Amino acid sequence: MSAILIPCRDCGKQVASSEARDQLCLDCRVRRSMSDLRDEHARLWRKRERYRSHGGNVEQIARQVARVEDRMAQRIKEMVSNERRATELLQRELEAARGQRYTIKGV
Ligand SMILES: [Zn+2]
Repeated sequence: MSAILIPCRDCGKQVASSEARDQLCLDCRVRRSMSDLRDEHARLWRKRERYRSHGGNVEQIARQVARVEDRMAQRIKEMVSNERRATELLQRELEAARGQRYTIKGV
């Protein structure tokens, strides 16, 4: 039994046509769907750093960050039916979001 493989138009990886939508692999679809939440995450993180440097209360902002991460988890769960895969992808996205904010922080 052989699946039909097509290249993902974003990362170029060969994926089974049954897994691809719009010629995009699942990883790339998840990554693309995260862009607005990732921006929101970075924005909140910068705000949190600003508050912290002024000795402000960061509790509320930390809760907002947690809420954005919950929304990321929710969105991934809706896209990925395999639970283990969904967990892996969420981990990757959270690392990417946190990596992005470290980059911003270091500028
Ligand atoms: Zn891809």
